[in-house]
Amino acid sequence: MAKSQLRPGLTLISTPIGNAGDITLRALDALRDADAIACEDTRVARRLMDMHGVSLGGRPLLAYHDHNVASAMPRLLDLLRGGGRVVFLSDAGTPMVADPGFRLAQAVIGEGIALSATPGPCAAIMALTLSGLPSDRFTFIGFAPPKREARRGFLRGFAAIPTTLILYESPKRLAASLADMAEIFGPRDAAVARELTKMFEEVRRAPLDALAATYAQEGAPKGEVVVVIGPPPPAEPATEADLDAALTDALATMTVKDAAKAVSTELGMPRREVYERALALRQR
Ligand code: SAM
Repeated sequence: MAKSQLRPGLTLISTPIGNAGDITLRALDALRDADAIACEDTRVARRLMDMHGVSLGGRPLLAYHDHNVASAMPRLLDLLRGGGRVVFLSDAGTPMVADPGFRLAQAVIGEGIALSATPGPCAAIMALTLSGLPSDRFTFIGFAPPKREARRGFLRGFAAIPTTLILYESPKRLAASLADMAEIFGPRDAAVARELTKMFEEVRRAPLDALAATYAQEGAPKGEVVVVIGPPPPAEPATEADLDAALTDALATMTVKDAAKAVSTELGMPRREVYERALALRQR
């Protein structure tokens, strides 16, 4: 048998988000070779291992989730300090992406223990790649708060970010959440990706207001969803009148140099050009 590549330390294992065939060969090797397996839900991990013919043998299978960190973490750290090869998997997708694992990884790094991963499925990344929206810069913002006012405040905080946004949403709140997004972000292009990797995989691409109207009419979709929203349109270039107005304001309280610096940042214009105009305005 080939020598195991799994090294002492913690290895984070990404697992399928719907299609069992998406487990990687390295993930299966790691599950086979680990001295101990930590997971969000032991039943889900057992099912995955059974499906792929990985037996547990006499190895510990330990639950680690947001509600038992205090008891589970010391046990895992003891195994790791003793040179154990421990793997951690969440129920689906990549650990720590809207899933547990962060505090464990942080403790492992803090102790100087090796941390590695077998990368694989992640709903956010798959939705981004299928969305047709700009992917050179994107911001993953997790789940929006369920209550309307909190959600709207949360969304407002991301409205000016000049990147594509990705968020997870519950199907039953999808229509209301899309309506808030349409109001707060305007008619930006967006996509709703549903049931990724599964039989009824679907991606709907349309401006936010159209998607909000569709789901308001159809009701909650079945399955899991990811919402991807394109970046805001680039700001219109500043006109001469904008420049003069901003400089006049700034020159009321600042030196020419400081006013030029502040206004060139505010309007995204070259510092020298703004400085020359500030000088001219001051000399009037
Ligand atoms: N760690 C996971 C990952 O890497 O994507 C995410 C876990 S989070 C608790 C679950 C959320 O991910 C769901 O509510 C949904 O928004 C999204 N999700 C997971 N699987 C999905 C799928 N097959 N299709 C669409 N969205 C999915």
